[in-house]
Amino acid sequence: MAQETIFSKIIRREIPADVLYQDELVTAFRDIHPRAPTHILIVPNVLIPTANDVAAEHEAALGRLFTVARKLAAEAGIAENGYRLIVNCNQHGGQEVFHIHMHLVGGKALGPMLA
Ligand code: C5P
Repeated sequence: MAQETIFSKIIRREIPADVLYQDELVTAFRDIHPRAPTHILIVPNVLIPTANDVAAEHEAALGRLFTVARKLAAEAGIAENGYRLIVNCNQHGGQEVFHIHMHLVGGKALGPMLA
């Protein structure tokens, strides 16, 4: 059984976060240390620790990450200029919280991806 992270507490509204969207599959909230004018995390409500743990049964929730990212990007006014969607995995990917999440980052030119 995977270990819960702080994101499960945010999803259950047990600790405060700036939650922008929630449905039966995903929750989106502002990153506490924003790296750009818009920096939102979109997470599946079910605990999937890393991209290595993704299974077919998660496809609905993981697909929802993209539809919610599109909606929130439009609401933030960054859709036309563009933005970046990032999923980090494990140590080399720079993952810090082991509850899979999509970063929606934008509001400025971000430069080359691997800079
Ligand atoms: O992809 P990675 O695991 O590195 O990203 C974790 C992100 O979660 C960080 O950007 C961090 O600022 C954010 N975070 C947060 N609220 C917390 C703990 C971490 O927004 N309570």
